[in-house]
Amino acid sequence: MPQASVLVLNGNYEPLNVCTLRRAVSLVMLGKAEPLVFRSEALSTVSGPMPAPSVVRLHQTVRRPIPMLRLSRHSVLARDRYTCQYCGSKGSDLTIDHVVPKRRGGQDTWDNLVACCRRCNLMKGDKTPQQARMNLLRQPSRPHYVPYISLPQYLRARREPEWSPFLPRFDAFEEDLVPA
Ligand SMILES: [Zn+2]
Repeated sequence: MPQASVLVLNGNYEPLNVCTLRRAVSLVMLGKAEPLVFRSEALSTVSGPMPAPSVVRLHQTVRRPIPMLRLSRHSVLARDRYTCQYCGSKGSDLTIDHVVPKRRGGQDTWDNLVACCRRCNLMKGDKTPQQARMNLLRQPSRPHYVPYISLPQYLRARREPEWSPFLPRFDAFEEDLVPA
């Protein structure tokens, strides 16, 4: 998490967004938000050092429709904890596999897309897991998560000790968030 990121809470304390420090400071200056938590290091400005917020809360509660959890490459990888769903290897060299291949009618849906390493992707090719004799570690499904912030953003944000108390907990992700 870059030092310059700030967690923005809605007036009702729900996590709303992650923004830059500059944006957060201007929200505070304009009287639209209050700082709740400061960073240990101060911000240097033309008028001298000032405390740098780490978490701010809007004075008003912004109404937002319940956002849809967007199906994207990043969301699928985050849901699968950046782990190949066939061999369990973790890493950055992951692709997205259609469990039932597109050619066989597989869709772009939460229950048909999984994180997959390149090696497994090659081995599986255009087969179903049964045909390729490759078992999924777990059955993919839509995550139970109400994303006021995006899923990858949430997982990163939960690792920030200062932000963690303001973020809701989702059991599905707890095991990944134990500090190393
Ligand atoms: Zn693999």
